[in-house]
Amino acid sequence: MTNTSSSIPNEIRNILAELGVAAEQTQGGTLKVVSPVDGSVVASVPEVPVAQIGKLIGEAHEAYLAWRSVPAPRRGEFVRLLGQELRAAKDALGRLVSLEVGKSPSEGLGEVQEMIDICDLAVGLSRQLYGLVIQSEREDHRVTEQWHPAGVVGVISAFNFPVAVWSWNAALAFVCGDAVVWKPSEKAPLTALAVQSLAMRAAQKFGGVPSGLSTLLIGGRDVGEALVDDVRVPVVSATGSTRMGRIVGERVARRFGRAILELGGNNASIVTPSADLDLTLRAVAFSAMGTAGQRCTTMRRLIVHENVYDNLVPKLASVYKSISIGNPITSDALVGPLIDGRAFEAMQQALADAKKAGGTVHGGERVDINGPNSFYVRPALVEMPAQLGPVCDETFAPILYVLKYRNLEDAIALHNGVPQGLSSSIFGTDIREIEQFLSTRGSDCGIANVNMGTSGAEIGGAFGGEKETGGGRESGSDAWKGYMRRQTSAMNYGRTLPLAQGVKFDI
Ligand code: NAD
Repeated sequence: MTNTSSSIPNEIRNILAELGVAAEQTQGGTLKVVSPVDGSVVASVPEVPVAQIGKLIGEAHEAYLAWRSVPAPRRGEFVRLLGQELRAAKDALGRLVSLEVGKSPSEGLGEVQEMIDICDLAVGLSRQLYGLVIQSEREDHRVTEQWHPAGVVGVISAFNFPVAVWSWNAALAFVCGDAVVWKPSEKAPLTALAVQSLAMRAAQKFGGVPSGLSTLLIGGRDVGEALVDDVRVPVVSATGSTRMGRIVGERVARRFGRAILELGGNNASIVTPSADLDLTLRAVAFSAMGTAGQRCTTMRRLIVHENVYDNLVPKLASVYKSISIGNPITSDALVGPLIDGRAFEAMQQALADAKKAGGTVHGGERVDINGPNSFYVRPALVEMPAQLGPVCDETFAPILYVLKYRNLEDAIALHNGVPQGLSSSIFGTDIREIEQFLSTRGSDCGIANVNMGTSGAEIGGAFGGEKETGGGRESGSDAWKGYMRRQTSAMNYGRTLPLAQGVKFDI
Protein backbone atom coordinates (compact mmCIF):
# COMPACT_ATOMS: atom_id res chain seq x y z
CA MET A 1 0.00 0.00 0.00
CA THR A 2 1.25 3.45 -0.85
CA ASN A 3 1.54 6.17 1.67
CA THR A 4 1.08 9.59 0.14
CA SER A 5 -2.11 11.58 0.37
CA SER A 6 -2.13 12.41 -3.38
CA SER A 7 -2.62 8.71 -4.12
CA ILE A 8 -5.72 8.40 -1.94
CA PRO A 9 -8.18 7.70 -4.81
CA ASN A 10 -5.85 5.01 -6.18
CA GLU A 11 -5.35 3.39 -2.83
CA ILE A 12 -9.10 3.41 -2.20
CA ARG A 13 -9.73 1.80 -5.59
CA ASN A 14 -7.23 -0.96 -4.81
CA ILE A 15 -8.71 -1.66 -1.39
CA LEU A 16 -12.25 -1.75 -2.74
CA ALA A 17 -11.18 -4.21 -5.44
CA GLU A 18 -9.42 -6.36 -2.82
CA LEU A 19 -12.59 -6.38 -0.71
CA GLY A 20 -14.76 -7.35 -3.66
CA VAL A 21 -16.52 -4.06 -4.41
CA ALA A 22 -17.12 -3.74 -8.17
CA ALA A 23 -15.87 -0.55 -9.86
CA GLU A 24 -19.36 0.40 -11.08
CA GLN A 25 -20.57 0.52 -7.47
CA THR A 26 -18.33 3.53 -6.81
CA GLN A 27 -18.33 5.38 -10.13
CA GLY A 28 -20.76 7.53 -12.10
CA GLY A 29 -23.20 7.97 -9.22
CA THR A 30 -24.73 11.05 -7.65
CA LEU A 31 -23.21 10.70 -4.17
CA LYS A 32 -19.78 12.34 -4.14
CA VAL A 33 -17.46 10.87 -1.53
CA VAL A 34 -14.86 13.27 -0.14
CA SER A 35 -11.88 12.09 1.90
CA PRO A 36 -11.38 14.47 4.82
CA VAL A 37 -7.68 13.62 4.71
CA ASP A 38 -7.11 15.99 1.79
CA GLY A 39 -10.61 17.06 0.73
CA SER A 40 -10.40 15.23 -2.60
CA VAL A 41 -13.40 13.60 -4.26
CA VAL A 42 -12.55 9.90 -4.20
CA ALA A 43 -15.69 8.27 -5.62
CA SER A 44 -19.19 8.94 -6.98
CA VAL A 45 -21.49 6.30 -5.63
CA PRO A 46 -24.89 5.46 -7.17
CA GLU A 47 -27.76 5.99 -4.71
CA VAL A 48 -30.75 3.71 -4.37
CA PRO A 49 -33.85 5.27 -5.98
CA VAL A 50 -36.44 5.88 -3.25
CA ALA A 51 -39.04 4.14 -5.44
CA GLN A 52 -37.05 0.87 -5.14
CA ILE A 53 -36.82 0.83 -1.37
CA GLY A 54 -40.23 -0.80 -0.80
CA LYS A 55 -39.24 -3.71 -3.04
CA LEU A 56 -35.90 -4.17 -1.24
CA ILE A 57 -37.57 -4.11 2.16
CA GLY A 58 -40.05 -6.67 0.81
CA GLU A 59 -37.14 -8.94 -0.10
CA ALA A 60 -35.61 -8.45 3.34
CA HIS A 61 -38.95 -9.41 4.88
CA GLU A 62 -39.05 -12.61 2.78
CA ALA A 63 -35.49 -13.36 3.90
CA TYR A 64 -36.54 -12.96 7.53
CA LEU A 65 -39.47 -15.37 7.01
CA ALA A 66 -36.98 -18.04 5.92
CA TRP A 67 -34.15 -17.14 8.34
CA ARG A 68 -36.34 -17.28 11.47
CA SER A 69 -36.73 -21.05 11.00
CA VAL A 70 -32.97 -21.65 10.84
CA PRO A 71 -31.87 -22.83 14.33
CA ALA A 72 -30.15 -20.01 16.22
CA PRO A 73 -26.79 -21.82 16.67
CA ARG A 74 -26.75 -22.35 12.90
CA ARG A 75 -27.45 -18.62 12.43
CA GLY A 76 -24.47 -18.11 14.71
CA GLU A 77 -22.36 -20.04 12.22
CA PHE A 78 -23.11 -17.35 9.60
CA VAL A 79 -21.93 -14.67 12.04
CA ARG A 80 -18.83 -16.73 12.81
CA LEU A 81 -18.03 -16.75 9.09
CA LEU A 82 -18.66 -13.00 8.94
CA GLY A 83 -16.17 -12.54 11.79
CA GLN A 84 -13.67 -14.63 9.85
CA GLU A 85 -14.06 -12.43 6.76
CA LEU A 86 -13.55 -9.36 8.95
CA ARG A 87 -10.40 -10.87 10.46
CA ALA A 88 -9.00 -11.57 7.02
CA ALA A 89 -9.90 -8.06 5.82
CA LYS A 90 -8.95 -6.19 8.99
CA ASP A 91 -5.96 -4.31 7.57
CA ALA A 92 -7.66 -3.31 4.34
CA LEU A 93 -10.97 -2.33 5.91
CA GLY A 94 -9.27 -0.46 8.77
CA ARG A 95 -7.24 1.47 6.22
CA LEU A 96 -10.39 2.26 4.25
CA VAL A 97 -12.01 3.63 7.42
CA SER A 98 -8.98 5.93 7.85
CA LEU A 99 -9.09 7.07 4.24
CA GLU A 100 -12.83 7.65 4.16
CA VAL A 101 -13.41 9.37 7.52
CA GLY A 102 -9.89 10.45 8.54
CA LYS A 103 -9.26 8.23 11.59
CA SER A 104 -5.71 7.39 12.61
CA PRO A 105 -4.56 3.93 11.40
CA SER A 106 -4.75 2.57 14.92
CA GLU A 107 -8.32 3.84 15.37
CA GLY A 108 -9.32 2.54 11.93
CA LEU A 109 -8.05 -0.92 12.87
CA GLY A 110 -9.65 -0.62 16.31
CA GLU A 111 -13.01 -0.06 14.67
CA VAL A 112 -12.70 -3.29 12.68
CA GLN A 113 -11.51 -5.14 15.79
CA GLU A 114 -14.71 -4.01 17.47
CA MET A 115 -16.68 -5.62 14.62
CA ILE A 116 -14.76 -8.87 15.10
CA ASP A 117 -15.38 -8.77 18.85
CA ILE A 118 -19.13 -8.32 18.50
CA CYS A 119 -19.25 -11.22 16.01
CA ASP A 120 -17.53 -13.41 18.62
CA LEU A 121 -20.00 -12.28 21.26
CA ALA A 122 -22.96 -12.93 18.94
CA VAL A 123 -21.74 -16.45 18.08
CA GLY A 124 -21.79 -17.36 21.78
CA LEU A 125 -25.12 -15.63 22.17
CA SER A 126 -26.64 -17.79 19.44
CA ARG A 127 -26.73 -20.61 22.00
CA GLN A 128 -27.92 -18.40 24.84
CA LEU A 129 -31.09 -16.58 23.75
CA TYR A 130 -32.56 -17.68 27.04
CA GLY A 131 -36.14 -17.31 28.16
CA LEU A 132 -37.60 -17.81 31.65
CA VAL A 133 -39.69 -20.33 33.50
CA ILE A 134 -42.03 -18.41 35.81
CA GLN A 135 -43.81 -19.88 38.85
CA SER A 136 -47.52 -20.16 38.13
CA GLU A 137 -50.18 -19.41 40.75
CA ARG A 138 -52.40 -22.13 39.19
CA GLU A 139 -52.08 -25.85 39.82
CA ASP A 140 -50.67 -27.95 36.95
CA HIS A 141 -49.68 -24.87 35.00
CA ARG A 142 -46.38 -23.71 33.62
CA VAL A 143 -45.64 -20.11 32.62
CA THR A 144 -42.70 -19.38 30.36
CA GLU A 145 -41.22 -16.45 28.56
CA GLN A 146 -39.62 -17.01 25.20
CA TRP A 147 -38.01 -14.84 22.55
CA HIS A 148 -38.76 -14.80 18.84
CA PRO A 149 -37.08 -12.86 16.04
CA ALA A 150 -38.52 -9.36 15.59
CA GLY A 151 -38.43 -9.22 11.77
CA VAL A 152 -36.55 -6.75 9.59
CA VAL A 153 -34.22 -4.48 11.57
CA GLY A 154 -33.44 -1.09 10.00
CA VAL A 155 -29.99 0.29 10.85
CA ILE A 156 -29.16 3.97 10.28
CA SER A 157 -25.55 4.84 11.07
CA ALA A 158 -23.42 7.96 11.57
CA PHE A 159 -20.19 8.88 9.78
CA ASN A 160 -17.90 8.64 12.80
CA PHE A 161 -18.20 4.89 13.34
CA PRO A 162 -19.02 4.07 9.73
CA VAL A 163 -18.85 0.27 10.09
CA ALA A 164 -18.75 -0.69 13.79
CA VAL A 165 -22.30 0.56 14.42
CA TRP A 166 -23.67 -1.73 11.73
CA SER A 167 -21.96 -4.72 13.32
CA TRP A 168 -23.19 -3.93 16.85
CA ASN A 169 -26.70 -4.21 15.45
CA ALA A 170 -26.32 -6.70 12.62
CA ALA A 171 -24.31 -9.40 14.43
CA LEU A 172 -26.97 -9.54 17.16
CA ALA A 173 -29.89 -9.23 14.73
CA PHE A 174 -28.64 -12.08 12.53
CA VAL A 175 -28.31 -14.54 15.42
CA CYS A 176 -31.68 -13.38 16.75
CA GLY A 177 -33.23 -14.45 13.42
CA ASP A 178 -33.78 -11.02 11.86
CA ALA A 179 -32.93 -9.56 8.47
CA VAL A 180 -31.02 -6.26 8.41
CA VAL A 181 -31.49 -3.28 6.09
CA TRP A 182 -28.68 -0.74 6.51
CA LYS A 183 -28.71 2.95 5.59
CA PRO A 184 -25.12 4.09 6.25
CA SER A 185 -23.98 7.69 6.52
CA GLU A 186 -23.91 9.47 3.19
CA LYS A 187 -20.42 10.61 4.23
CA ALA A 188 -19.11 7.03 4.40
CA PRO A 189 -20.68 4.80 1.72
CA LEU A 190 -17.42 3.14 0.64
CA THR A 191 -16.74 1.35 3.91
CA ALA A 192 -20.40 0.27 3.88
CA LEU A 193 -20.05 -1.21 0.38
CA ALA A 194 -16.93 -3.05 1.53
CA VAL A 195 -18.70 -4.50 4.59
CA GLN A 196 -21.68 -5.56 2.50
CA SER A 197 -19.29 -7.35 0.16
CA LEU A 198 -17.70 -9.17 3.12
CA ALA A 199 -21.16 -10.15 4.39
CA MET A 200 -21.93 -11.58 0.94
CA ARG A 201 -18.66 -13.57 1.04
CA ALA A 202 -19.66 -15.01 4.40
CA ALA A 203 -23.12 -15.80 3.04
CA GLN A 204 -21.61 -17.65 0.11
CA LYS A 205 -19.41 -19.74 2.40
CA PHE A 206 -22.39 -20.48 4.65
CA GLY A 207 -24.61 -21.50 1.73
CA GLY A 208 -28.35 -21.05 1.93
CA VAL A 209 -28.49 -17.54 3.39
CA PRO A 210 -31.72 -16.12 1.95
CA SER A 211 -31.05 -13.25 -0.43
CA GLY A 212 -32.01 -9.91 1.12
CA LEU A 213 -30.93 -11.00 4.63
CA SER A 214 -28.31 -8.25 4.59
CA THR A 215 -29.39 -5.30 2.48
CA LEU A 216 -27.60 -2.01 1.91
CA LEU A 217 -29.36 1.23 0.96
CA ILE A 218 -26.95 3.96 -0.13
CA GLY A 219 -28.42 7.44 0.06
CA GLY A 220 -29.31 10.44 2.17
CA ARG A 221 -32.08 11.47 4.50
CA ASP A 222 -34.91 10.63 2.06
CA VAL A 223 -33.66 7.03 1.88
CA GLY A 224 -33.47 6.89 5.69
CA GLU A 225 -37.02 8.22 5.97
CA ALA A 226 -38.40 5.61 3.57
CA LEU A 227 -36.82 2.91 5.77
CA VAL A 228 -38.10 4.51 8.97
CA ASP A 229 -41.70 4.74 7.68
CA ASP A 230 -42.03 1.15 6.44
CA VAL A 231 -44.32 -0.94 8.67
CA ARG A 232 -42.44 -4.10 7.66
CA VAL A 233 -39.48 -2.82 9.70
CA PRO A 234 -40.53 -3.43 13.33
CA VAL A 235 -37.20 -2.25 14.78
CA VAL A 236 -35.22 0.81 13.69
CA SER A 237 -31.83 1.32 15.29
CA ALA A 238 -30.71 4.88 14.52
CA THR A 239 -27.31 6.31 15.43
CA GLY A 240 -26.58 9.98 14.88
CA SER A 241 -27.42 13.45 16.08
CA THR A 242 -30.20 14.26 18.51
CA ARG A 243 -31.79 16.32 15.72
CA MET A 244 -32.05 13.18 13.58
CA GLY A 245 -33.24 11.03 16.50
CA ARG A 246 -36.06 13.40 17.33
CA ILE A 247 -37.43 13.01 13.80
CA VAL A 248 -36.79 9.27 13.50
CA GLY A 249 -38.11 8.49 17.01
CA GLU A 250 -41.39 10.31 16.29
CA ARG A 251 -41.87 8.71 12.89
CA VAL A 252 -41.25 5.19 14.19
CA ALA A 253 -43.57 5.79 17.16
CA ARG A 254 -46.32 7.01 14.83
CA ARG A 255 -46.54 3.52 13.32
CA PHE A 256 -45.92 1.77 16.69
CA GLY A 257 -42.48 0.49 15.70
CA ARG A 258 -39.60 0.13 18.14
CA ALA A 259 -36.74 2.63 17.93
CA ILE A 260 -33.30 2.01 19.40
CA LEU A 261 -31.89 5.54 19.51
CA GLU A 262 -28.14 6.15 19.94
CA LEU A 263 -27.77 9.92 19.77
CA GLY A 264 -25.48 12.77 20.78
CA GLY A 265 -23.54 13.01 24.02
CA ASN A 266 -22.11 15.84 26.09
CA ASN A 267 -19.85 13.73 28.23
CA ALA A 268 -18.13 15.01 31.35
CA SER A 269 -15.51 13.88 33.81
CA ILE A 270 -15.08 15.03 37.39
CA VAL A 271 -11.54 15.37 38.74
CA THR A 272 -11.61 15.03 42.53
CA PRO A 273 -8.83 16.18 44.92
CA SER A 274 -7.61 12.58 45.39
CA ALA A 275 -7.11 11.95 41.65
CA ASP A 276 -3.85 10.62 40.23
CA LEU A 277 -3.16 13.66 38.07
CA ASP A 278 -0.65 12.03 35.69
CA LEU A 279 -3.12 9.30 34.83
CA THR A 280 -5.90 11.90 34.60
CA LEU A 281 -3.90 14.01 32.17
CA ARG A 282 -3.31 11.08 29.80
CA ALA A 283 -6.90 9.87 30.03
CA VAL A 284 -8.34 13.33 29.37
CA ALA A 285 -6.02 13.86 26.39
CA PHE A 286 -7.15 10.62 24.70
CA SER A 287 -10.81 11.07 25.53
CA ALA A 288 -11.08 14.74 24.55
CA MET A 289 -8.75 14.91 21.53
CA GLY A 290 -8.75 11.35 20.11
CA THR A 291 -10.64 10.93 16.81
CA ALA A 292 -10.43 14.75 16.62
CA GLY A 293 -13.27 15.01 19.13
CA GLN A 294 -15.62 13.15 16.78
CA ARG A 295 -16.77 10.31 19.01
CA CYS A 296 -20.21 10.26 20.56
CA THR A 297 -18.35 9.51 23.81
CA THR A 298 -15.72 12.25 23.39
CA MET A 299 -15.06 14.09 26.66
CA ARG A 300 -16.57 17.55 26.22
CA ARG A 301 -16.63 18.89 29.80
CA LEU A 302 -14.07 18.60 32.59
CA ILE A 303 -15.22 19.52 36.08
CA VAL A 304 -12.14 20.05 38.27
CA HIS A 305 -11.91 20.49 42.03
CA GLU A 306 -10.54 23.91 42.99
CA ASN A 307 -7.65 22.33 44.97
CA VAL A 308 -6.18 20.61 41.90
CA TYR A 309 -7.35 23.04 39.18
CA ASP A 310 -4.14 25.13 39.10
CA ASN A 311 -2.01 22.01 39.02
CA LEU A 312 -3.91 20.15 36.28
CA VAL A 313 -5.28 22.77 33.90
CA PRO A 314 -2.01 24.53 32.90
CA LYS A 315 -0.46 21.10 32.21
CA LEU A 316 -3.46 20.21 30.10
CA ALA A 317 -3.19 23.52 28.22
CA SER A 318 0.42 22.71 27.39
CA VAL A 319 -0.55 19.25 26.07
CA TYR A 320 -3.17 20.97 23.90
CA LYS A 321 -0.48 23.31 22.61
CA SER A 322 1.94 20.52 21.68
CA ILE A 323 -0.33 17.68 20.54
CA SER A 324 0.60 16.42 17.06
CA ILE A 325 -1.93 17.29 14.37
CA GLY A 326 -1.52 15.84 10.91
CA ASN A 327 -2.41 13.66 8.00
CA PRO A 328 -3.52 10.35 9.53
CA ILE A 329 -2.29 8.43 6.49
CA THR A 330 1.20 9.80 6.08
CA SER A 331 2.09 10.70 9.66
CA ASP A 332 1.63 9.24 13.13
CA ALA A 333 -0.09 12.40 14.36
CA LEU A 334 -2.58 11.88 17.18
CA VAL A 335 -5.17 14.35 15.85
CA GLY A 336 -6.47 14.02 12.29
CA PRO A 337 -8.95 16.08 10.30
CA LEU A 338 -12.53 17.12 10.97
CA ILE A 339 -15.00 15.45 8.65
CA ASP A 340 -15.77 18.60 6.63
CA GLY A 341 -16.04 22.39 6.49
CA ARG A 342 -19.39 22.42 8.26
CA ALA A 343 -17.84 20.74 11.27
CA PHE A 344 -15.10 23.38 11.26
CA GLU A 345 -17.63 26.23 11.10
CA ALA A 346 -19.68 24.72 13.93
CA MET A 347 -16.51 24.52 16.04
CA GLN A 348 -15.57 28.16 15.36
CA GLN A 349 -19.12 29.29 16.15
CA ALA A 350 -19.07 27.42 19.47
CA LEU A 351 -15.72 28.96 20.40
CA ALA A 352 -16.99 32.46 19.55
CA ASP A 353 -20.09 31.83 21.69
CA ALA A 354 -17.94 30.52 24.53
CA LYS A 355 -15.81 33.70 24.43
CA LYS A 356 -18.95 35.82 24.52
CA ALA A 357 -20.06 33.87 27.60
CA GLY A 358 -16.78 34.73 29.35
CA GLY A 359 -14.67 31.71 28.39
CA THR A 360 -10.88 31.73 27.93
CA VAL A 361 -9.97 29.78 24.80
CA HIS A 362 -6.66 27.94 24.34
CA GLY A 363 -6.16 26.64 20.77
CA GLY A 364 -9.01 25.96 18.33
CA GLU A 365 -7.37 27.52 15.26
CA ARG A 366 -7.20 25.95 11.82
CA VAL A 367 -3.93 24.22 10.92
CA ASP A 368 -2.95 23.96 7.27
CA ILE A 369 -1.91 20.36 6.68
CA ASN A 370 -3.32 19.43 3.30
CA GLY A 371 -4.60 22.56 1.57
CA PRO A 372 -7.89 24.46 1.62
CA ASN A 373 -10.24 21.52 1.10
CA SER A 374 -9.35 19.68 4.30
CA PHE A 375 -10.08 20.90 7.82
CA TYR A 376 -7.47 20.26 10.47
CA VAL A 377 -7.71 22.14 13.78
CA ARG A 378 -5.80 22.47 16.99
CA PRO A 379 -8.07 21.05 19.71
CA ALA A 380 -9.47 23.74 21.98
CA LEU A 381 -9.41 23.89 25.77
CA VAL A 382 -11.88 26.45 27.08
CA GLU A 383 -11.93 27.61 30.70
CA MET A 384 -15.50 28.61 31.50
CA PRO A 385 -16.81 30.67 34.41
CA ALA A 386 -20.06 28.67 34.40
CA GLN A 387 -21.98 26.02 32.48
CA LEU A 388 -23.50 28.36 29.91
CA GLY A 389 -24.34 28.60 26.21
CA PRO A 390 -22.34 26.16 24.03
CA VAL A 391 -21.25 24.09 27.06
CA CYS A 392 -24.75 22.60 27.13
CA ASP A 393 -24.63 21.54 23.46
CA GLU A 394 -22.75 18.81 21.65
CA THR A 395 -20.41 20.44 19.12
CA PHE A 396 -18.94 17.53 17.17
CA ALA A 397 -15.34 18.78 17.28
CA PRO A 398 -12.45 18.75 19.77
CA ILE A 399 -13.55 21.34 22.32
CA LEU A 400 -13.12 20.62 26.03
CA TYR A 401 -14.84 23.05 28.42
CA VAL A 402 -13.27 23.23 31.88
CA LEU A 403 -15.26 24.18 34.96
CA LYS A 404 -14.19 24.54 38.59
CA TYR A 405 -16.06 23.09 41.61
CA ARG A 406 -15.84 23.06 45.41
CA ASN A 407 -18.33 20.36 46.61
CA LEU A 408 -18.91 17.00 44.96
CA GLU A 409 -22.70 17.55 45.11
CA ASP A 410 -22.24 20.72 43.03
CA ALA A 411 -19.95 18.89 40.61
CA ILE A 412 -22.54 16.12 40.12
CA ALA A 413 -25.27 18.72 39.63
CA LEU A 414 -23.15 20.41 36.94
CA HIS A 415 -22.35 17.03 35.45
CA ASN A 416 -26.01 16.07 35.15
CA GLY A 417 -27.17 19.58 34.24
CA VAL A 418 -27.14 19.11 30.45
CA PRO A 419 -29.79 17.58 28.17
CA GLN A 420 -27.63 14.63 27.06
CA GLY A 421 -26.77 11.50 29.09
CA LEU A 422 -24.35 9.21 27.29
CA SER A 423 -20.99 8.79 29.05
CA SER A 424 -19.31 10.07 32.19
CA SER A 425 -16.33 9.46 34.44
CA ILE A 426 -14.71 10.37 37.72
CA PHE A 427 -11.03 10.52 38.65
CA GLY A 428 -10.10 9.86 42.28
CA THR A 429 -9.04 7.38 44.91
CA ASP A 430 -11.47 8.34 47.68
CA ILE A 431 -13.88 5.42 47.71
CA ARG A 432 -16.69 7.51 49.23
CA GLU A 433 -16.57 10.01 46.40
CA ILE A 434 -16.29 7.33 43.74
CA GLU A 435 -19.24 5.36 45.13
CA GLN A 436 -21.32 8.52 45.39
CA PHE A 437 -20.71 9.16 41.69
CA LEU A 438 -21.79 5.61 40.85
CA SER A 439 -24.82 5.67 43.18
CA THR A 440 -28.39 6.60 42.32
CA ARG A 441 -27.52 10.17 43.34
CA GLY A 442 -24.52 10.23 41.02
CA SER A 443 -24.03 10.24 37.25
CA ASP A 444 -27.27 10.10 35.23
CA CYS A 445 -25.53 8.62 32.16
CA GLY A 446 -25.70 5.22 30.48
CA ILE A 447 -21.94 4.84 31.01
CA ALA A 448 -20.08 5.79 34.20
CA ASN A 449 -16.33 5.08 34.35
CA VAL A 450 -13.76 5.41 37.11
CA ASN A 451 -10.16 6.55 36.57
CA MET A 452 -10.48 6.59 32.82
CA GLY A 453 -12.03 8.85 30.25
CA THR A 454 -15.53 8.81 28.81
CA SER A 455 -14.66 7.14 25.48
CA GLY A 456 -13.40 3.73 24.41
CA ALA A 457 -16.16 1.34 25.52
CA GLU A 458 -15.81 -2.45 25.21
CA ILE A 459 -18.48 -4.44 23.39
CA GLY A 460 -19.31 -6.70 26.37
CA GLY A 461 -21.45 -4.08 28.10
CA ALA A 462 -24.69 -2.54 26.85
CA PHE A 463 -23.87 0.71 25.08
CA GLY A 464 -26.08 3.80 25.05
CA GLY A 465 -27.36 6.69 27.11
CA GLU A 466 -30.28 8.52 28.64
CA LYS A 467 -32.19 11.79 28.07
CA GLU A 468 -31.49 13.30 24.63
CA THR A 469 -29.02 10.49 23.91
CA GLY A 470 -32.19 8.52 23.20
CA GLY A 471 -32.31 5.67 25.75
CA GLY A 472 -31.27 2.91 23.32
CA ARG A 473 -28.87 0.09 24.17
CA GLU A 474 -26.74 -1.86 21.71
CA SER A 475 -23.89 -4.34 21.81
CA GLY A 476 -23.38 -6.57 24.87
CA SER A 477 -25.21 -7.52 28.09
CA ASP A 478 -28.89 -8.18 27.24
CA ALA A 479 -29.08 -5.64 24.39
CA TRP A 480 -30.03 -8.59 22.13
CA LYS A 481 -33.54 -8.42 23.57
CA GLY A 482 -34.09 -5.24 21.56
CA TYR A 483 -33.91 -7.32 18.37
CA MET A 484 -36.48 -9.91 19.42
CA ARG A 485 -40.11 -10.01 20.46
CA ARG A 486 -41.01 -11.39 23.85
CA GLN A 487 -43.75 -13.96 24.28
CA THR A 488 -45.26 -15.04 27.58
CA SER A 489 -46.86 -18.44 27.43
CA ALA A 490 -49.11 -20.13 30.03
CA MET A 491 -49.72 -23.85 29.64
CA ASN A 492 -52.29 -25.96 31.47
CA TYR A 493 -51.27 -29.60 31.74
CA GLY A 494 -54.03 -30.56 34.21
CA ARG A 495 -57.65 -31.64 33.81
CA THR A 496 -59.33 -28.62 35.40
CA LEU A 497 -59.45 -24.98 34.37
CA PRO A 498 -58.49 -22.78 37.35
CA LEU A 499 -58.57 -19.09 36.45
CA ALA A 500 -55.97 -16.59 37.53
CA GLN A 501 -56.68 -14.34 40.50
CA GLY A 502 -59.30 -16.91 41.69
CA VAL A 503 -61.92 -15.70 39.21
CA LYS A 504 -64.92 -18.04 38.86
CA PHE A 505 -66.70 -18.62 35.53
CA ASP A 506 -68.52 -21.96 35.79
CA ILE A 507 -70.87 -22.72 32.94
P1 NAD B 1 -26.42 12.75 11.52
O1 NAD B 1 -27.56 12.83 12.47
O2 NAD B 1 -26.19 13.92 10.64
O3 NAD B 1 -26.62 11.48 10.54
C1 NAD B 1 -26.69 10.18 11.04
C2 NAD B 1 -27.47 9.30 10.07
O4 NAD B 1 -28.85 9.68 10.11
C3 NAD B 1 -27.04 9.42 8.61
O5 NAD B 1 -27.04 8.14 8.03
C4 NAD B 1 -28.12 10.30 8.01
O6 NAD B 1 -28.31 10.12 6.63
C5 NAD B 1 -29.34 9.83 8.77
N1 NAD B 1 -30.47 10.78 8.82
C6 NAD B 1 -30.41 12.11 9.00
N2 NAD B 1 -31.66 12.62 9.05
C7 NAD B 1 -32.50 11.57 8.89
C8 NAD B 1 -33.92 11.45 8.86
N3 NAD B 1 -34.73 12.51 8.97
N4 NAD B 1 -34.47 10.22 8.70
C9 NAD B 1 -33.67 9.11 8.58
N5 NAD B 1 -32.33 9.18 8.59
C10 NAD B 1 -31.75 10.39 8.75
O7 NAD B 1 -25.12 12.41 12.37
P2 NAD B 1 -23.58 12.39 11.92
O8 NAD B 1 -23.11 13.78 11.70
O9 NAD B 1 -23.38 11.38 10.84
O10 NAD B 1 -22.89 11.78 13.23
C11 NAD B 1 -22.55 12.51 14.36
C12 NAD B 1 -23.60 12.38 15.44
O11 NAD B 1 -23.84 11.00 15.74
C13 NAD B 1 -23.15 13.00 16.76
O12 NAD B 1 -24.24 13.66 17.33
C14 NAD B 1 -22.74 11.79 17.59
O13 NAD B 1 -22.79 12.00 18.98
C15 NAD B 1 -23.77 10.80 17.15
N6 NAD B 1 -23.34 9.43 17.42
C16 NAD B 1 -23.93 8.77 18.45
C17 NAD B 1 -23.52 7.49 18.78
C18 NAD B 1 -24.14 6.74 19.93
O14 NAD B 1 -23.97 5.53 19.98
N7 NAD B 1 -24.83 7.38 20.85
C19 NAD B 1 -22.50 6.86 18.03
C20 NAD B 1 -21.94 7.57 16.98
C21 NAD B 1 -22.36 8.86 16.69
